[in-house]
Amino acid sequence: MSRTERERAQADELYKGGSSMRLPSPRSASPEPNINQSTEYARPCPHCSPDNAFGWSCPIPVSDPNTDVEHAWPVEDGLPPGHQHCGNCENLTAVQAPSTTKCDFCQVYFCGIEVQGRCVATPLSTQSPHGMSDVGDLIQSADVYDCFDGNTVEVEIMLDYLTAQGITPRHIYREIVTHLQSQPGGFRPLIDLELFVDNHNVSPGVDPDPNAPRNRICRLCASEILLWGLRDWWVRERQKGFLEEDVMARKDCAEGQACSRQKDLDNHMIAPRPTDAANVSEAPPTNEMAEAPAQLPANILTPLPPIADLLQHL
Ligand SMILES: [Zn+2]
Ligand SMILES: [Zn+2]
Ligand SMILES: [Zn+2]
Ligand SMILES: [Zn+2]
Repeated sequence: MSRTERERAQADELYKGGSSMRLPSPRSASPEPNINQSTEYARPCPHCSPDNAFGWSCPIPVSDPNTDVEHAWPVEDGLPPGHQHCGNCENLTAVQAPSTTKCDFCQVYFCGIEVQGRCVATPLSTQSPHGMSDVGDLIQSADVYDCFDGNTVEVEIMLDYLTAQGITPRHIYREIVTHLQSQPGGFRPLIDLELFVDNHNVSPGVDPDPNAPRNRICRLCASEILLWGLRDWWVRERQKGFLEEDVMARKDCAEGQACSRQKDLDNHMIAPRPTDAANVSEAPPTNEMAEAPAQLPANILTPLPPIADLLQHL
């Protein structure tokens, strides 16, 4: 399918779903003949009606196809001016409405009306990563094990630690955000990896400037950051030395993350991921950098093998 066809198919789905949910029950006395046209025409957003309850109206409202089909907006013409689809409820959303927010990572808009706490891109520090409300969610997430290259021993050590310390996924997400904000490259390496692309069913707005500050975030993008940064967060957390003695006493495997036996009982958490190298300010943002050896943290507790040794295993 072409992009337009795909978008139209999505829009059809959307309006089908929307019409069954949102239309008043049909009046039996005079059935609406146009009721099925809502798959052909855009449905007005909550702000389109001039006398809506939200205190702000669309400068170019979308006509209701059920009452004014002549001026209705055909879905095949794309999005009506001043509107996008909400990344959560997927309803038509007025871009300029005061309740509308935009995620600075995926660039998707959120209506702020339909589902409290979900249809919103919040400031970075107050967002909750989607599907990760407690340690139980982490235990059930295959993505978490993927972050650790299937090193289940280490994942279990981490999960025990999180449980014992009462650390929530949201807390980890915030610490990763704070860490990234302290790096010269900020969130740029994650954006360059396209972590925030195509996570929603709706089409995004545009990124005004690749170097624009990233202030607001949606729940899905918060999850992406959590998963991206979890392993390195754990490397940093381990360095605080709060782990049980038997865990700390484990022998370091010299190959670290490059080792093919991640599940053996040696410690494989000694080297950060290569992508951290992209945070070095003088580094050019090339693809080669992603393969380059990582800069090793200076304050790590255990002695490190020479970089050349690490390189042999990359
Ligand atoms: Zn509107
Ligand atoms: Zn919404
Ligand atoms: Zn987002
Ligand atoms: Zn090993």
